[in-house]
Amino acid sequence: MKADFEAADITASSGGFSVASAAGRTVEARAVILAGGGKSYPALGANGSCYALAGRFGHHIVPPVPSAVPLLVKDPMCQALQGQKLMVRAVSLIAGQAGQKAEGELLFAQYGLSGTAALDVSESLSIAVNRDGKKDASVIVDLIPFMSEEDLAAELSRRMEAGWSAKDLGAGLLPEKFALIMPQFLGDAGASAGKMSHGEAGRRLAAVLKSKKFAVQGTRGWNEAEFTSGGVDAREVKPRTLESKLRRGLYFAGEVLDVQGGRGGHNLAWAWASGFVAGLTE
Ligand SMILES: Cc1cc2nc3c(=O)[nH]c(=O)nc-3n(C[C@H](O)[C@H](O)[C@H](O)COP(=O)(O)OP(=O)(O)OC[C@H]3O[C@@H](n4cnc5c(N)ncnc54)[C@H](O)[C@@H]3O)c2cc1C
Repeated sequence: MKADFEAADITASSGGFSVASAAGRTVEARAVILAGGGKSYPALGANGSCYALAGRFGHHIVPPVPSAVPLLVKDPMCQALQGQKLMVRAVSLIAGQAGQKAEGELLFAQYGLSGTAALDVSESLSIAVNRDGKKDASVIVDLIPFMSEEDLAAELSRRMEAGWSAKDLGAGLLPEKFALIMPQFLGDAGASAGKMSHGEAGRRLAAVLKSKKFAVQGTRGWNEAEFTSGGVDAREVKPRTLESKLRRGLYFAGEVLDVQGGRGGHNLAWAWASGFVAGLTE
């Protein structure tokens, strides 16, 4: 049956369910599948309205937060390097605990960090800052992942020994634009020339470049989030049929549930597979 309207309300009826539009049109149904998606990219249709519909039948909603989303970082480096891309390794760090890890492209932006590496560690950070209100969230970035810290330290020490200027120390290791901020890295490393041996200064600078810490203040919003983290609590849904444990005949499919996959097609695969299973209603 094609109703062709946005479901504004769903109530229990003698035959199962009565689904109503905002204008008051109703459709009677023996079973209902809630498949209205999450809250990401509202311009594409999903707006989180199904959470309220699930809530009518007693379902608990894990607070939705944007995921696969760029990170808000207040670091002058992001502004100085804005538009610059770099292949990195990244790991989220929340209250001292390492979380999601990613390898990929980091894109410096005026507001902070984007690119696949930032998106791939964003879920744990978004949950920490947007849902749990944690302040101690950061991303640790290995800016030179193709060299061990030991080899990098030796190379940097050699360059210092040979009298390379601070801005040239990253030549050939990092994109040219990094010359702007190499002196800042040296400062962060406490590697002032003349105050320590070149060996020690090289080791300190390598440590900063291999584990650059960016404190995360927040994330960009729903209009830039590929996924939604959160939704209808999956523990309240029968795993074999995706029927509600709380209301017979009510089913769920796709991103409306608190089920997440990483980038790479896992969320679409889940939406299609769960829609198929939920559609096998008795
Ligand atoms: C920019 C972007 C890039 C993405 N890239 C990837 C990727 O590379 N790989 C991947 O796996 N996933 C990706 N995703 C995520 C993926 O698209 C979603 O996980 C998937 O589409 C979810 O499917 P769904 O059917 O649950 O919800 P949706 O696709 O959001 O569809 C929900 C539909 O329900 C309708 N609806 C909502 N509320 C109501 C209501 N009350 N009544 C009637 N209809 C309603 C909406 O209009 C919408 O048409 C991306 C998402 C975005 C936004």
